Amino acid sequence: GSKSDFAVETRGLGKSFGGFDAVRDVNLKVRRGSVHALIGPNGAGKTTCFNLLTKTLIPTTGRILLHGKDISSLRTSDVAQLGLVRSFQISATFLHLTCLENVRVALQAKNGGGYRFWRSLRAISGLNARAMELLERVGLADVADVRATELSYGKKRALEIATTLALDPSVMLLDEPTAGMGHEDIEPVTELIREAAVGRTVLIVEHNLSVVSSLCERITVLNHGEVLNEGSYAEVSSNADVVSAYMGG
Ligand code: ADP
Repeated sequence: GSKSDFAVETRGLGKSFGGFDAVRDVNLKVRRGSVHALIGPNGAGKTTCFNLLTKTLIPTTGRILLHGKDISSLRTSDVAQLGLVRSFQISATFLHLTCLENVRVALQAKNGGGYRFWRSLRAISGLNARAMELLERVGLADVADVRATELSYGKKRALEIATTLALDPSVMLLDEPTAGMGHEDIEPVTELIREAAVGRTVLIVEHNLSVVSSLCERITVLNHGEVLNEGSYAEVSSNADVVSAYMGG
C-alpha cells in the first residue's frame, strides 16, 4: 500500500477500566519523522495511550495504524517487529551487566534470539563493534565496561536510549525520559533524544515543558482521557483551556 504521512495514527481510540474511560475517542496523528509530545496532568491518560500503542493494553474502542497499517489486532512483539518500540527501563537483571553487555543483548534480540551469533568469533566481534558504536553515540564509550548499576541517573537513561536504538525502531516511544533528573543531566539527554530522532519518529511523554518546547514539533494535550488541544508549542501553550488544565497555577 501507499506510505502514510503519519507514522502513528489512532482513530477513536478508547480504553475503559470497569466503565471508567481512561482514554476516550483519541484521534492522534504523529507525522512521520517528527518528534511529537503527549502532555497533560496526572491521570490524563498518557500512560494508557502508550500502553495501547504498544499493545500492552487491548483497546476498548478504535483503531491504531502504524505507517498506515492497521495494528489493532497485533501483539506487542508483532508491533515491535514492525518498528514501534518503547524505551525500556534497564531492569534489575540487566543492571548487573556492563553497558556494552546491555547493548549487545539488545542487538542480539534484534537479530532474533542470538544463538547463531555465538557460532563464530567474527560475529561476536562484529556485535561488540556495533555495540561500541551505539555507546559512542550516546556518550557512554568510556564506561562500556562499567556495570549499569554504577551509572549516574542521566547515564542510565542514556544507556536505555542506546539499547532502544539497538533495535533500530522506526517509531520510538519515550516515557518521561527526564523524570527525576537534575538540571545537569536534562540538557545532554535532550540533545541525545534530538540526535536519536534523526531518521525516525519519536513520541514522547514529558513533563518538563522546556524539554517539550525545544524538542517537539507538535504537541497533543490530553485531559481526562480526551484530547484537549493539539498544535505547536506556541499554539498549545497559549490556549486558554490548556493553560487552566495544565500550565496554569
Ligand atoms: P497519566 O499517564 O496521564 O498520568 P494514566 O494513563 O496512567 O494517566 O491514567 C489515566 C486514568 O486511568 C487515571 O485516572 C488512572 O487512575 C486510570 N487507570 C489507569 N490504569 C488503570 C487500570 N489498570 N485500572 C483502573 N484504572 C486505571
